[in-house]
Amino acid sequence: MNVLQEMSKYGHEQVVFIRDEKVGLNAIIAIHNTALGPALGGTRFWDYATEEEALFDVLRLSRGMTLKSAAAGLKLGGAKAVIIGDPKKLKSKEFFHVYGKFIDSLGGKYYTAEDVNMSAADVEMISEVTKYVSGTPAVSGNPAPFTARGVYMGLKAGASVKLGTDSLKNVTVAVQGLGNVGYALCEHLHKEGAKLKVYDINPATMEKALKELGATAVKPEEMLTTECDIFAPCAMGAVFNKDNIKSLKCRLISGAANNVLMDASVGDALNDLNILYLPDYIINAGGVINCGIEIEDPSWRYNVDEVNTRVDGIYNTTLKIIALAKEKQISTSKAADEYAEGIYGG
Ligand code: NAD
Repeated sequence: MNVLQEMSKYGHEQVVFIRDEKVGLNAIIAIHNTALGPALGGTRFWDYATEEEALFDVLRLSRGMTLKSAAAGLKLGGAKAVIIGDPKKLKSKEFFHVYGKFIDSLGGKYYTAEDVNMSAADVEMISEVTKYVSGTPAVSGNPAPFTARGVYMGLKAGASVKLGTDSLKNVTVAVQGLGNVGYALCEHLHKEGAKLKVYDINPATMEKALKELGATAVKPEEMLTTECDIFAPCAMGAVFNKDNIKSLKCRLISGAANNVLMDASVGDALNDLNILYLPDYIINAGGVINCGIEIEDPSWRYNVDEVNTRVDGIYNTTLKIIALAKEKQISTSKAADEYAEGIYGG
């Protein structure tokens, strides 16, 4: 892979390769854009099969962070880091201190946070050697409840357009994935009287949702074809492709999972099928808002009500994206990109 060529394709400013023989650290930090402010993006710890795979992931994810923060109205840029290797074998205090010192050497251009296979305790160890860390338990903490709140607000905005009301009472929502975000989203929906159809690979979580939220279980092979008003993907990415979307029986797609469309053309195809897709990075920005405000304004003292007010703004942002798509006769995914790029100048 030609790194500079790839950077120019996605519009990256800087890509840093990091190595430390002693602790076995191999990592890549991709800073996509800092036009609006310091670049924020979590560290993902993953045993990538190849360096190319890791680079591809970090470039794509960091661009997504720029779009997400810009659309969320944060004065922040976008970045992401990937640590290559087996987290179970490599994690230690020394390991995270070495990694943290590399982050520190970037002088505040990059702020890290939690991501896949990184716990709050790991992030805290990094914060012992650098201040360029966000989302530590001592300050903003777990982002999932805020992400769920934002998805819920986005989903209501989408419903107001597609179903003619933003009340979700008796609206059927199929939720794929009942993890930190998916379960919290279900709690919001249940409280409002929505009917839940759910699937998670974890039987214990399923049992809990059926018992506590009155949800109906869906078989995994029937998840994508289940009859519902709204489908909320809250597990993994690349859920929808050009073929499987033809069998969908929903009118609206709105979930937390990142990169749920296999590729950009699926956004157009959903539009052709008259299924309203709410772009993932628009509605799942609650978590980044929660940990981003403290970077945006270092004098700010954490205040959950202020965070919730900013997260609730996802309702109006979602309406803006839907209106832009309608006005320009383009898909909502293209409209979201245009909207975010217009803000950061991409
Ligand atoms: P999580 O790991 O807590 O939950 C994921 C859940 O999905 C788990 O319960 C798991 O059992 C389930 N799952 C995995 N494969 C599945 C499958 N094939 N079918 C059904 N269920 C399956 O993760 P999370 O923090 O809840 O995040 C969920 C999604 O939202 C992820 O894609 C994540 O990248 C995205 N996201 C999360 C946040 C956040 O604040 N946590 C922010 C933005 C985006």
